[in-house]
Amino acid sequence: MFELNSRFQIAAMFALAVIIIDYCKNPHLKLLSTKCFRLLLWMTGINLCLDLLTVHLADHIGQVSPFLNRLCHQLFIASIILVIFFNYLYISILANQQKRMNGRKWLLTLIPLIISFLVIGFGNLNAGYEYGEMAYSSGTAVYTVYACGTAYLLLGVKISFEKRADLTGNQRRSVRIGLGIWCIVMAAQLYFPQLRLSGMGFVLLVLSIYFSYENQKENFDSETGCFNKNAFHRMLSEYYEKGKTLYLVNLACENLDRISSLVGHEQGMGAMKYLSSLFSSCTGKEVYHSRSRVLSIFVTEDMHKMIDRLHRLEVTLAEESYLSSKLYCHMTVMDLRKFISSKDEVFELMHFMEEKYQGNDCKIYFLNEDIVNEKRRKNKIDLFLNEALQNQGFEMVYQPIYHTREKCFRSAEALVRLKNTGDLGYVSPEEFIPIAEEKGMIMEIGDRTLALVSEFIREADLLSSPLQYIEVNLSAIQASSPRLDKRFAEIMQKYQIPASFINLEITETATINFGKIFTENINRLRDTGFSFSMDDFGTGYSNLAQMNEIRYDLVKLDKSLIWPAFEEDEGKAGQAEKLLSSVIRLLHHIGVKIVAEGVETEEMADYLTEKGVEYLQGYYFSRPMDREQFLEFMNQK
Ligand code: C2E
Ligand code: CA
Ligand code: CA
Repeated sequence: MFELNSRFQIAAMFALAVIIIDYCKNPHLKLLSTKCFRLLLWMTGINLCLDLLTVHLADHIGQVSPFLNRLCHQLFIASIILVIFFNYLYISILANQQKRMNGRKWLLTLIPLIISFLVIGFGNLNAGYEYGEMAYSSGTAVYTVYACGTAYLLLGVKISFEKRADLTGNQRRSVRIGLGIWCIVMAAQLYFPQLRLSGMGFVLLVLSIYFSYENQKENFDSETGCFNKNAFHRMLSEYYEKGKTLYLVNLACENLDRISSLVGHEQGMGAMKYLSSLFSSCTGKEVYHSRSRVLSIFVTEDMHKMIDRLHRLEVTLAEESYLSSKLYCHMTVMDLRKFISSKDEVFELMHFMEEKYQGNDCKIYFLNEDIVNEKRRKNKIDLFLNEALQNQGFEMVYQPIYHTREKCFRSAEALVRLKNTGDLGYVSPEEFIPIAEEKGMIMEIGDRTLALVSEFIREADLLSSPLQYIEVNLSAIQASSPRLDKRFAEIMQKYQIPASFINLEITETATINFGKIFTENINRLRDTGFSFSMDDFGTGYSNLAQMNEIRYDLVKLDKSLIWPAFEEDEGKAGQAEKLLSSVIRLLHHIGVKIVAEGVETEEMADYLTEKGVEYLQGYYFSRPMDREQFLEFMNQK
């Protein structure tokens, strides 16, 4: 039977058993640190078993041969230094330290371990019976192991301070708490030599690592049944650092948000779970839920075989549905060795490709140089926009708008331009406005453009010119920003411009969704005197249904409705002309005035005038011009 002094070991054994059972229940990442933690776990178990065995032998000292007794004590002491060594190794792996080590450094690191083994093998070891009932090992071997163990523990602390940048806050904390626990246990051991506390100390150490970092539940996404974002980041770091062949294959479920909003979040996650099982069975790889609607796998071998599998998956996915909702998916394949310059770029490009191929066919898209360049240009524009906001880098150009009945120019559209774009060349607002929207700069840019237009109106005294109003573009996101009405009122106040001199053009997009802020903003701005145009009528979301929500004063017919009516192919042109004239009739019927955009020829201008379109805008009359050119143009007319 165990004596009193085995209590700690038995308690530690239970605690360890709980950790091991919990650990084995969950799937594991194939990280080097996880493998090392497993070694640490098993070694701690072996240490506890040997601990109990040596206590048992000490209690039955007369019944075992001195050789066997000594051997068991030797193994027990060796297991102590091994546990401490694996703990040190684990910290080094977390801190990426092992990658910076050459052969000499490895040898230096192993010296305490080698010394310990030599002394355990050949040094003095009092195997338990010295203290009679108290199963305590002592002698040179024990003290040497404690000294070498302390050296490893101190080295561990050193790494946790020195390589703090490589460790997450959680890791640093767990390493230090673990080491703190170990030091307390060592001190207690010296004070109470009759107790065996090392086993308990090790289990507490393992416990602190387990709960803070190695708990595999933290890597697992129970909703989708695959590894989560956290696990994806850790695996990506490890694979990326290895520098070997590495592909990332992403499967994006484009209509996940829609499914979730229709049938609930749980069902949405159910769809992802279903996709992940398809993805995994088709590719034979572990699947990661890497972004909200994206599943990913890593491919570390040649891609040829995998491509065939992905093509099979592509065919399956094209017909796939979940609970009667069709699943719209696309796949992207990224060669991380060929095109990517840093790990951070992986996430940027994943996101970029996910957005780029949204709404396209269910296909496989490969990352290539053009996409990388497109993304890098986008980053540069982002930087440039930030600079432009600091250094007054925006200017406005004005495109006159012709009044067909009065036969003169009665308004103009203000269009924003970026000054001095350097090696980026010309950057159209069509390119930089969406970036400004995505990066949250659009509100500030929008306020600047309105201020620039107001300043121009004031300085050129346009209020006393034949112009009735200036049209200013309002981004959909900007229109939904809080306090928009107050900011615009301040600008009007500053330049003493009546709001009725500004017509705000809005392009409807999916993002507007007629939120509360959007409609409140529009109503308040209308009360202040601003008028509104629906821009780009006939494209995307700009359509008749939106007219029920917002009262527009003007509708701007997009060029894509106009140009086809003037195509050379008479058949097509005839059909398009019918559509165009019906749209014009319909808009007039509901009482809105029309501005036709993209009028490039006399033929277009004459036709639209004849159909009663009130305003014409396009290169036929003039391109957008800077302030001086615009004033000169207006003076000549
Ligand atoms: P939009 O509001 O539809 O502006 C009309 C665009 O068509 C302008 O391009 C204009 O230069 C161009 N255009 C005018 N007449 C013709 C023509 O006869 N033929 C052709 N091919 N094009 C013509 P721009 O200035 O590059 O602006 C592009 C888009 O960028 C605008 O489309 C608008 O959506 C956005 N944008 C421009 N300025 C601003 C601004 O200050 N704020 C916001 N939020 N968006 C702006
Ligand atoms: Ca416009
Ligand atoms: Ca337009």
